Amino acid sequence: MQDQLRRLPKVQTLLEGDAAAGLIARHGREDVANAIRAKLDIARAKIMAAGGASISVISEQSLFDEIATDLNAAKAPTLKRAINATGVIIHTNLGRARLAPEAIEAMQSVAAHYSSLELALDNGKRGTRHAHVEDLICQLTGAEAAMVVNNCAAAILTCLSALASGQQVIASRGELVEIGGSFRMPDVITQSGAVLKEVGTTNKTHLRDYAEAIGDDTALLLKSHTSNYAIVGFTSAPDRQELAQLAHETGTFLLEDLGSGVLIDLSKYGLREDPVVRDVLAAGVDLVTFSGDKLLGGPQAGIIAGRRALIDRIKKHPMARAVRIDKLSLAALRATLALYKSPHEPIARIPVLQMLAEPIEHIRDRANQLCTAIQKETSLRAVQIASTARAGAGSLPQQDLPSAAIALSREDTSVDALAEQFRKAETPIIGRITQDQFLLDMRAVAAEEVAMIIAAARAISPK
Ligand SMILES: *Cc1c(COP(=O)(O)O)cnc(C)c1O
Repeated sequence: MQDQLRRLPKVQTLLEGDAAAGLIARHGREDVANAIRAKLDIARAKIMAAGGASISVISEQSLFDEIATDLNAAKAPTLKRAINATGVIIHTNLGRARLAPEAIEAMQSVAAHYSSLELALDNGKRGTRHAHVEDLICQLTGAEAAMVVNNCAAAILTCLSALASGQQVIASRGELVEIGGSFRMPDVITQSGAVLKEVGTTNKTHLRDYAEAIGDDTALLLKSHTSNYAIVGFTSAPDRQELAQLAHETGTFLLEDLGSGVLIDLSKYGLREDPVVRDVLAAGVDLVTFSGDKLLGGPQAGIIAGRRALIDRIKKHPMARAVRIDKLSLAALRATLALYKSPHEPIARIPVLQMLAEPIEHIRDRANQLCTAIQKETSLRAVQIASTARAGAGSLPQQDLPSAAIALSREDTSVDALAEQFRKAETPIIGRITQDQFLLDMRAVAAEEVAMIIAAARAISPK
């Protein structure tokens, strides 16, 4: 055993050899030395475990091959492009909204150069970053004023911190939503320094419940979009118009967290569940919060829009500085909002809206193309089936979107193993497993991605 241990090469010797030179040039001496040490530790442990029995120890060549693979893997990007075949368009785990080309171009320009981020070009004085989107948001929503922060969660926290800290916030028990990623409305209210006053019951909250709860220390009424659940059956809730009126009569105001925030009427595409921001403000709601990367189809951002006096107070609060939007998202947001203005047709330009509104026939065409190619060119079994897609991320929660999918299988492979093989493809392909079938849903798969899926399927399961 001692003999075998002694025969292991020294780290220093290996580092000075030719095999190491190329690796050191690519990865640096320290990483290569550490990797060699780790491999030799493993070899040493193996020899000891064998307790003197003769075992074959790793050759120098394969040691360096393994090190090269490990070092390359460690440097490979972990945040990679992926193909979304889940059927969930705004998939939070997959990065939510794909951006329009105009938004990508705007980000590139601002990323590569200096920009007028906080400089008013007409007078050379310090400007504000909100100015780049405020006018557009106001035009598109009818709001008096607007501002943007890092995301919608930050928008709500900032509104409550600036407007309700130390005071009461009244909310219905039917709307105390948990959004995921540990964002729970009661906790957010507490975190802001406000005190939550719950009214009503899970299924029914009446206008009088709010009226009876309003007191001298009430800062605001909070309405939240129940974006990931529905209360059905014996239910009631006052509409936002009544609630806004009550708030104004009692000298307080109404804040509504919309979550998704739709800017245009999607009903002609058969999508009608989420309220349009303009209508919400027109109903008398004083302040709304919504996301940039949900149905709006832009970058991660949280938009606050509504009455100027309130927005001015929020802009001045330290929390607004702590959660400010970065310049790349701001550039992408402005470019996305601009696509909502005539003569543009947002449905034709913004990927999220395109995918929502795409006619089922087009989706079936892609499914057909993929199914035929997989049948012909691979040893996988492929069957085209009707599927149901979703908007996702709490947008249009009850809306089924007709879609088409390919169910893939192979005799010797479980659905989980198949899903893993596609997930580990060079460009990861993320499908979904439904009723023990591995499905690739085509609604959120772009036309140019079909060929990539075919190539991956060929590599995974050659004919
Ligand atoms: C998604 C959502 C949020 C959080 O938005 P982010 O932009 O993800 O921070 C808040 N409220 C509601 C109702 C939502 O649906």
